[in-house]
Formats: sequence, C-alpha cells, structure tokens
Amino acid sequence: MRKRWLLVASAPQVWRESKQRYKLIGFECENCKRPFFVERVICPNCKSRKIREIRLGAEGTVESFTVIFNPPKKFEYHSPYIIGLIKLKKGVKVIGQIVDCLPQEVKVGLEVEVSFRIVSKDEDTGLIMYGYKFRPKIY
Ligand SMILES: [Zn+2]
Repeated sequence: MRKRWLLVASAPQVWRESKQRYKLIGFECENCKRPFFVERVICPNCKSRKIREIRLGAEGTVESFTVIFNPPKKFEYHSPYIIGLIKLKKGVKVIGQIVDCLPQEVKVGLEVEVSFRIVSKDEDTGLIMYGYKFRPKIY
C-alpha cells in the first residue's frame, strides 16, 4: 500500500499540485521578494504574511546532477536517467529529470529549459501523470 502512495497520486493531490506540476507556479514574498517553490503562509526570511503566486519561468541552469542506474519500480524504462538540481531564473531551485541528452553531456552550469513530459503511468488505473522535466536549452 505504501508503494502505491509513493508512485500514484490521488486525484485531489493532482489537483492540489497542478499549478506547480504543470505551470511551474511558485510563490514570492511581497515584502522582501524572496521566491520559493512550495507555498508558505509566512515568509521564512522576513516573517511577512503577504505571499503571492509568481511564474518561475521556463529556464534555468544545472546546479548539480546524478545518474540513476537503479530506479524504483515502474521507472525502470527510464533507466539510466539523469536527475538534476536546477536553479530557475527566479532563483528557486527545483529537482527534476534532465532529458534529451546523454549523462556525459550534462555538466554544472548547463542551461536548460522546461519540457512537459509523461512522468509516470499507473497500470491499474491508466492514470497518466505529466510533469516538468528539463532539457538542454535549444538556441
Ligand atoms: Zn519576505
């Protein structure tokens, strides 16, 4: 049961996370302008309660990365795959898969852009989860 919770999101969870998952919407403190990815009631920097939504942008740079050779169940078909810590233009850091390149082509500082892809598919329900991934920026 626990594995199922980890790999398959419920409909309410999908709805709740849809802004972050599909639009890369984040949040910003109106007072000190600090951006963050996860919504907060109080700014951790200045304690202001004035938080607003912002678009985080579709471009960023690779801060660090690793290659996954032993993925969790249901992600085997991606293996090996690259997971990176991406610093978006607004300063927020997010973790995501880096696609459309080989592991040896990724390096710290590589410019990337968001690409919406299938993240997982539940064999029992047929529910397909989409989400953001990153690919090397095309000039
Ligand atoms: Zn603040």
